[in-house]
Amino acid sequence: MQKIDILSLTLDELIAEMEKRGEKKFRAVQIYEWLHKHKVTDFDSMTNLSAQLRQKLDEFFWINSLKIQKRLVSDLDNTVKYLYGLSDGEKVETVLMEYKHGNSICISTQVGCKMQCKFCASTKAGFVRNLLPGEMLSQIYESERDSGRHINHIVLMGIGEPLDNFDNVVKFLRLIDSKEDMSLRHVSLSTCGLVPRIYELARLKLGITLSVSLHAPTNELRSAIMPVNDRYPIEELMKACKAYFEATGRRISYEFALIDAVNDTKENADALIKLLKGQNCHVNLIPVNEIKEGEFKRSASVERFKQMLNDGGLNATVRRTLGADISAACGQLRRDNK
Ligand code: SAH
Repeated sequence: MQKIDILSLTLDELIAEMEKRGEKKFRAVQIYEWLHKHKVTDFDSMTNLSAQLRQKLDEFFWINSLKIQKRLVSDLDNTVKYLYGLSDGEKVETVLMEYKHGNSICISTQVGCKMQCKFCASTKAGFVRNLLPGEMLSQIYESERDSGRHINHIVLMGIGEPLDNFDNVVKFLRLIDSKEDMSLRHVSLSTCGLVPRIYELARLKLGITLSVSLHAPTNELRSAIMPVNDRYPIEELMKACKAYFEATGRRISYEFALIDAVNDTKENADALIKLLKGQNCHVNLIPVNEIKEGEFKRSASVERFKQMLNDGGLNATVRRTLGADISAACGQLRRDNK
């Protein structure tokens, strides 16, 4: 019999599993608190349960907790990058960042990625598997435990395409929503643009911010650097983004990684202004982070590009790069980073 991954269960699911085994609802509530408030990683730490019940739990369930394999701390800005080992020996990276408003964590949603964006390290070694909801949560719990910092912002921008692991990601978001110390208002999900899933997410009205990796204002250029654009071209993506805004009232944040001589010219800026003008949105400019396979170089015109967008009426800012000295910046995360 396969044991159940208890950290991935919502409270209602845990209640149902416990009742199936002849236990009372309040026991499930106690266990849920041990897991998600006290964040224990073994049943023996659940000291208000009888030894007999703890043994029973151990028989039917297991707690999926990740193990720190490597920890790198940035000398520049206190950013911490963790390499976490999963129960099957696979690995993912997680980044903990310090901002004025608190601590933010960038979590991975898959082991590897299928999307093959040309500039991104996370996809270079291919795709292995989806992460379970508990494995996404455990990245947060273990990072909090290790750092002693309380995390109040979560970004799904690590390894993987979150909307390609839709059901597990939504369940993870529901688990976050059940916590008193976290809010979905402080969660951002970044997608390369899986259009049908954007509509599905809009229907759920979870209150999270949607970041869309745009990176190019025309289909020709976008398809050249992001193969996903062949499946879901820019016109369809824009329709989905507008629908997301209409359904949720949350403005879209477009990510645009500036690459030297690829997408940082005046023509690119003009095309982007034309594309987004009138949309209630924000453009996040990221000087592209170079990766070791990289043919792409960082643009030297980031400020100029921002100014052109602002002059054209777009709300655009440059994202601060954190953890550059430990390869913890956008697009630099890898599975199995040796
Ligand atoms: N798969 C999701 C989330 C992961 S990447 C997505 O595509 O959105 C998080 C962000 O970093 C995305 O906007 C991604 O396009 C961007 N990114 C990837 N590689 C990068 C690089 N080398 N430099 C800057 N940003 C990069």
